[in-house]
Amino acid sequence: MKTGRIIKVAGPLVVAEGMEEANIYDMVKVGEKGLIGEIIEMRNDKASIQVYEETTGIGPGDPVITTGEPLSIELGPGLIEAMFDGIQRPLNALESASNSPFLKRGVSVKSLDREKVWTFNPTIKNGEHVEAGDIIGTVQETSVILHKIMVPYGIKGTIKEIKAGDFTIVDTVAIVETENGDKELTLMQKWPSRKGRPYSKKLKPESPMITGQRVIDTFFPVAKGGAASVPGPFGAGKTVVQHQIAKWGDTEIVVYVGCGERGNEMTDVLNEFPELKDPKTGESLMKRTVLIANTSNMPVAAREASIYTGITIAEYFRDMGYSVSIMADSTSRWAEALREMSGRLEEMPGDEGYPAYLGSRLADYYERAGKVVCLGSDGREGAVTAIGAVSPPGGDISEPVSQATLRIVKVFWGLDANLAYKRHFPSINWLNSYSLYEDSVDKWMNNEVSQDWSSLRIEAMTLLQEESALQEIVSLVGIDALSENDRLKLEISKSIREDYLQQNAFHETDTYTSLDKQYKMLKLILLFRKEAERALKAGVYLNKILNLDEIRDRIARSKYISENEINKIDKIEEDLKTTIDTLINEEGGVLNA
Ligand code: ADP
Repeated sequence: MKTGRIIKVAGPLVVAEGMEEANIYDMVKVGEKGLIGEIIEMRNDKASIQVYEETTGIGPGDPVITTGEPLSIELGPGLIEAMFDGIQRPLNALESASNSPFLKRGVSVKSLDREKVWTFNPTIKNGEHVEAGDIIGTVQETSVILHKIMVPYGIKGTIKEIKAGDFTIVDTVAIVETENGDKELTLMQKWPSRKGRPYSKKLKPESPMITGQRVIDTFFPVAKGGAASVPGPFGAGKTVVQHQIAKWGDTEIVVYVGCGERGNEMTDVLNEFPELKDPKTGESLMKRTVLIANTSNMPVAAREASIYTGITIAEYFRDMGYSVSIMADSTSRWAEALREMSGRLEEMPGDEGYPAYLGSRLADYYERAGKVVCLGSDGREGAVTAIGAVSPPGGDISEPVSQATLRIVKVFWGLDANLAYKRHFPSINWLNSYSLYEDSVDKWMNNEVSQDWSSLRIEAMTLLQEESALQEIVSLVGIDALSENDRLKLEISKSIREDYLQQNAFHETDTYTSLDKQYKMLKLILLFRKEAERALKAGVYLNKILNLDEIRDRIARSKYISENEINKIDKIEEDLKTTIDTLINEEGGVLNA
């Protein structure tokens, strides 16, 4: 292959000529050190290259060699528990290869460990016909994840030989006889990160990804295979929300992509994640997690690559039939990398300097979320649910990255600095957040949880919306101007906010609420409304009803009832009805008159 020559270096952007044999998105080696780069623009024989390592010392005349292949992700056992940088170089290995926590440039390391031996259990036999996506066997990758070894895309034929036993990821475990000759299969395959992995059929995301977080599951659910965005003004609780979803979300695999601005943000992530305990297994959450982090000493360009690296790994586990969640934090930092490269390419800037293709690049990420029928003859289903954090400067979501994101995703969890300041957590603002999966998830909930789920949810949300209008009246003319019914509404919405929406991530019981418990809790709060209205009608003064401290206190504390005792909530319901009966007997003007 011909070697090109550098004609210009501008930070992470290098332009080389004599590159007519190369293609856009080819991976290239830049300079004598062989720095890793990717071609992002081709004009005749000139290639513009995004370099993923520091380019100081590189200059005009230096060689550029194309590998003739796009930047590809290695997929196989060894992904789980790994920590990679934006272009899938293992962070630990980088440390030892360069003998310092700061990676030396041009250090070449393989993404997946070539030495480690895995036990492969074949699940098919000689003579069987296989196609892309068929599972030929499994590897117990960690104590909780069974890695399914699949026939790579493009291969179709008959199994000529398949072995059981201990292998590295580059050893041949099976031979497939195809029309084009024998193909050797290993435990590993590769996939170009900028291209979505194929599937048989895309399904409509309808069932929720249950998170155990009441405000999310009840009011703003994300469907499995859906996409959600969460803006995080500093200190609003973004990290806690993401940790809660990683821990409690009912997905088998978690992929976390950290595009932090400052190195220490990333160090926090790298330190915090392994500390998280998986509530389902009691083991470290890392046993089912892949971490991708851009460390501070890598140029911004690597951030740009990282979300594609992450989503490719997520799709690969989806293809095994798993439900996967991927979190990118933050897409704003990612977009800044895009803006910087666009500036260096001297492209026409769009809104606030972001390139005009900001929206389509964001869509390239989110649109790879989805629920699918996977390739392979068993018709298994898998899902990737994508969550992107946005960090709008000053928390103002009218800026381009937030706006472009909102046009793509169907769920918006608006974290609110004011709520966080008042210690209302999770600080998801119920008035500006939304979920466009509401209708399909409602149907699912009505079938799976209780048929009045959606009517309860709608009643509660209506109350919360009415509350904000009523509060405005109160602030103008005072609470006395309100009817007793409206004052009751204010009380009930306060109860929804404090007893239901507020959820303490650090409380042993409150940290997670099953759907059955969410249903019972919400029903109880709204039953208080019904019962209070009954008493009002019977002529009881509102104050008397609101002073029912004992029962109201039990309603408020129902969040602390443990999951295996949720029937205790039924007892509170019964007692609530009797309490109201008694009150009506004692105080009810209408009944006693
Ligand atoms: P951010 O990542 O947005 O800067 P964090 O997620 O670190 O903010 O949250 C800041 C603090 O808010 C946490 O340390 C914690 O004290 C509190 N907090 C956030 N969410 C919750 C929650 N669900 N329950 C209890 N405390 C919370």
